Amino acid sequence: MEYPNLLPRFLKYVQVNSRSDEHSTRFPSTEREEDFQKQVIMKDLQELGLSDVHYNQKSGCVIAEIPANITKNVPVMGFLAHSDTADFNSENVKPQIHENYDGHSKIQLGDSEFYLDPEVFPHLKNYQGQTIITASGDTLLGGDDKCGVSELVTFAEYLLAHPEIKHGKIRLAFTPDEEIGTGAEHFDVPEFGADFAFTVDGEAPGKLDWGTFSAAQFSLDIQGVNVHPAVAKGQMINAVQVGINFQNQLPQDEVPEETDGKQGFYHLMNFTGTVDNAHLDYIIRDFERDGLEKRKDLVKSLVAKMNEEFGTERIKLKMWDQYYNMADELAKHMDIVNLAREAYKAEGLTIDEDPVRGGTDGSQLTYMGLPCPNLFAGEENMHGRYEYTVLESMYKAVDVMVKMAELNAASHQ
Ligand SMILES: [Zn+2]
Repeated sequence: MEYPNLLPRFLKYVQVNSRSDEHSTRFPSTEREEDFQKQVIMKDLQELGLSDVHYNQKSGCVIAEIPANITKNVPVMGFLAHSDTADFNSENVKPQIHENYDGHSKIQLGDSEFYLDPEVFPHLKNYQGQTIITASGDTLLGGDDKCGVSELVTFAEYLLAHPEIKHGKIRLAFTPDEEIGTGAEHFDVPEFGADFAFTVDGEAPGKLDWGTFSAAQFSLDIQGVNVHPAVAKGQMINAVQVGINFQNQLPQDEVPEETDGKQGFYHLMNFTGTVDNAHLDYIIRDFERDGLEKRKDLVKSLVAKMNEEFGTERIKLKMWDQYYNMADELAKHMDIVNLAREAYKAEGLTIDEDPVRGGTDGSQLTYMGLPCPNLFAGEENMHGRYEYTVLESMYKAVDVMVKMAELNAASHQ
């Protein structure tokens, strides 16, 4: 159905710059992000009359509650959306509304030289007759995740206005710093008080994410031996060359640019060095937990073998896990995934459960004790100037949340 306040709300939110900053040492990472949470989201929630609206200093989250309107106890459901936007120009976002899209034309981004071309972005062809919202060429839109933020607020507004829809207690959280990967680790699971939750931060209607990569990161610090090149024979150990030799021993086709679907990879993200010393940063990704462990073992054994040949620990390895595939944990809570599936079906959506080649805030939260799959929010082409969203997708996301609230209440008679 149509929610008349959703579009104006979304337009208001995307025009507030709330970009996070991975180089920041404060938490949340930027003041503008915190301002958006406290001065815009929190105010709107208070005006709508939600309960327990507050800012949690520890987690950097705005929290709110939609009180139950039934007396029986049902599990407390939560919804989360992140208030920061990605690492792309977010100054002066000017959202453009393209009504009744014809399904085949290019859409000009403002009066810029940039166009959304359905030949380049074939998803556009799915949206004939619908309302496309873009930025104006030199900024991102910020639908990631202001789609989710405005959908959560609209969902709350709708439930408060429609007491005939019976539901249990529902908790909402507007989280910081998702785009820099540090928001979830501060999340206050006990204070949030939900039994399970959903991030609302996904792509097109029907997309349901409950499988993600398992992830680790490692770095190598290589100590070389720098002697004059003229007399280097048998003496010099060029740290840069040692790094190259290490890299060359990894499976060369298991890199992001050669893999897709359910294939994992090793990704060399950074390589700096001189003859004297070199530093390499990698991430490792795999959908299977034992696949991740095998990749970690390969790295360890390569480093050990090279150090053995040097006769000293010339290569220092630091390795740590980042997050795990939430599917392994959610397998124990399939009723949660099934609740979303049921709601999608009831709303006539075709479910797409392809695993995410990345992580979500939910990957961490699931392992912190809050099982948390990800729902679609209507985001398309995230993180750049070609980002867009579709108003009808956003309506659908709210429909799904309303349906989930109903189903959750009904399933616990
Ligand atoms: Zn996002």
